[in-house]
Amino acid sequence: MTERHSRNILGLSLAELEQLAIALGQSRYRGKQLYRAIYARRVQSLESLTDLKREFRGALASQYHIAYPEIQGEFASRDGAVRSVLRLGDGNTVESVYMPEEDRTTLCLSSQVGCGLDCKFCFTGLLGMRRNLTPGEIIGQVLAIAKARSIPRRARLNIVFMGMGEPLLNLPAVMQSARVLADTDGLGIPLRRITISTAGVVPKIHELGREPARPKLAVSLNASHDEQRTALMPLNRKYPLRQLLDACRVFPLHPRERLTFEYVMLDGINDSNADAERVAALVRGIRSKINLIPYNSGAELPYRPSPLKRVMEFQEILTARNVPAFIRISRGQDVRAACGQLSLAGA
Ligand code: SAH
Repeated sequence: MTERHSRNILGLSLAELEQLAIALGQSRYRGKQLYRAIYARRVQSLESLTDLKREFRGALASQYHIAYPEIQGEFASRDGAVRSVLRLGDGNTVESVYMPEEDRTTLCLSSQVGCGLDCKFCFTGLLGMRRNLTPGEIIGQVLAIAKARSIPRRARLNIVFMGMGEPLLNLPAVMQSARVLADTDGLGIPLRRITISTAGVVPKIHELGREPARPKLAVSLNASHDEQRTALMPLNRKYPLRQLLDACRVFPLHPRERLTFEYVMLDGINDSNADAERVAALVRGIRSKINLIPYNSGAELPYRPSPLKRVMEFQEILTARNVPAFIRISRGQDVRAACGQLSLAGA
């Protein structure tokens, strides 16, 4: 077979690799060896798998290859964050962000090429929706960045699906990738360190809640009443606040788990004291915390970040009403790596 017909093996689940081994006349166990090699040992060439029988290796290598997304550009922020532009097999590109901290590193992943939700404050929305990423392209973001930044397997990694796209509109691929990321024979990043962030696709929140094992959930609230939220996030017309918060209220949290609400603070739009009071009322009774994100601005959109003083007063109102609230200044603003940003920030 020519290279053209060769398939990228990256993204196949353990069950799929076991099936593949069996189809090639091997024992099921060979599939597990292959799985460990690809994801735990991060091997990049099937020919190098000398622990597999030559015949199996040859058959595999004639039909499959291991391809990570290609790093097309890297933009390093003063604060240590790095935005990577990754080129996919079909020529599309997505972005991932690497954020090292003292005791851990966070990778922000994309789940779609572009996004169809058209949130008015988000720069990814300007691209429109191109397509869903495959499990291989999602896992490939982690493997490509781990390689480029020399992240050892032992490193404490957090994964957030807060890059381009709406992860709950690509839930099967996001869940398949999360299972491989979390598996101790896979990348070994526990599910409690993986977070899916959603703009509020209500039926998919219920669906995620029914998963026996799942990543954590963050919900982008971003507004305190329906009219305001619909103006900022057209998806709210389909799934208004009442439905969204009901879904959050019945979401089955683990004993010490909290749901995260994200709230992008837009100067003069959603940042008043009255907004803070309404937000406190909305989330009442939901075991949760709120991350307040000062808006990351850019030339293409008209919004401005709330002044820090405003953000702090908003936070105080929430705290006074027993809603834990944290201020999250986005990293990588100088290289357009910050939340929702494709253009230089002012905040
Ligand atoms: N579609 C998902 C994940 C991508 S957006 C979601 O909506 O949650 C990740 C987070 O960045 C969301 O909380 C979103 O509200 C926020 N965000 C989008 N644009 C932003 C901007 N310009 N400044 C700050 N945060 C932004």
